[in-house]
Amino acid sequence: MFDPEAVKRDFPIFEHHEGLVFLDSAASSQKPRAVTEAMTRYYEHDHANVHRGAYGLSMRATEAYETARRQMARFLGAEADEVVFVRNATEALNLVAYAWGLEHLRDGDEVLVTEMEHHANLVPWQLVAARTGARIKAVPLTAEGRLDLDAFEALLSERTRVLAVTQMSNVLGTVNPVAELAAAARERGALVVVDGAQAAPHLPVRVRELNADFYALSGHKMLGPTGAGVLWGRREALADLPPFLGGGSMIEEVTIERSTYAPPPQRFEAGTPAIAEAIGLGAAADYLMRLGMENVWAHDRALLEYALERLAEVPDLHLYGPRGADRGGVIAFNLGRLHPHDLATALDERGVAVRTGHHCAQPLHRRLGVAATARASFYVYNTPTDVDRLVEALLEARKFFA
Ligand code: PLP
Repeated sequence: MFDPEAVKRDFPIFEHHEGLVFLDSAASSQKPRAVTEAMTRYYEHDHANVHRGAYGLSMRATEAYETARRQMARFLGAEADEVVFVRNATEALNLVAYAWGLEHLRDGDEVLVTEMEHHANLVPWQLVAARTGARIKAVPLTAEGRLDLDAFEALLSERTRVLAVTQMSNVLGTVNPVAELAAAARERGALVVVDGAQAAPHLPVRVRELNADFYALSGHKMLGPTGAGVLWGRREALADLPPFLGGGSMIEEVTIERSTYAPPPQRFEAGTPAIAEAIGLGAAADYLMRLGMENVWAHDRALLEYALERLAEVPDLHLYGPRGADRGGVIAFNLGRLHPHDLATALDERGVAVRTGHHCAQPLHRRLGVAATARASFYVYNTPTDVDRLVEALLEARKFFA
């Protein structure tokens, strides 16, 4: 049985902040002891640079780093040599946009994104489009906050060279039918890049079943440390990808004039990697796999449904995002005409931490017709009591500002 109270005891932050209702995991999750201890153990027992030393300690460090790669591969249903360690989802998406885009995009080509993309899956494509002459097109949303699938079909054409789509919206919680979208795009020869920053921490992900070429995630949103993320690439897609950053560790042979490059994943890991962070991320993946990603998703879903039911008690509360099984534990809202920043400050005074702003999704907020929203997001350590505290705090804030 999944017991969020027991899970919560694995997270020291809640011992140091008694009564904290942390509802900002979509921005960055808290860390269990299993993660921080794995990193400390590595630094105290095994640290040396990886892949370079013939001595025992360096081999231990390399083994720990490569174990983390295998852990992430298992977490994603992939092979270890398809897992590239990067800093975060942003870097993973930039890597693909620059390495693939500069090589393949031409004047008149189209990159198809969606109106719900995080800036991390939009701005890199804009930067590369500006240098190649490609154009960005966006799949619009329905009134409920889902992708308009008819519009998607209509936008796909032989000019579409890339589909860049999020698996789950960081504002609406919408889970997109990525496998179907990807199949349609690949049929027309487009490269499919999936932003898994929000989905990977919460859903069971089997990357092969998504029909995608690339999948990006951030470790810090899935209980891991900051500074470690993953770019998964289908083996053939990675093999075809030229390097993004050049330097040590990514080469085969170097002369003054030119170099040949190592096979993936090393080709994309120039320089000394974030070794301890990768090890922490591997420990986080293990922790989540022990909880069971099906259980994590069921817990998120149950909290979401409970929260949507309880939030209906708050007058003047406007909620965004679809109703249905295709929605994760993220709730964006506005209370009457109150500025979300003032609302969040009032909630914080009552021990409830939520995020406010455009959540790096300005085109989406423009589509919603608001400049900003407040956002509550749930994870493994949240309980129904946290939802109750949110509702109480909202009711009090409403009275206070009336
Ligand atoms: N994509 C989505 C959907 C996100 O929610 C985020 C972070 O909020 C990112 C990408 C970028 O993640 P990071 O800042 O860790 O690179």
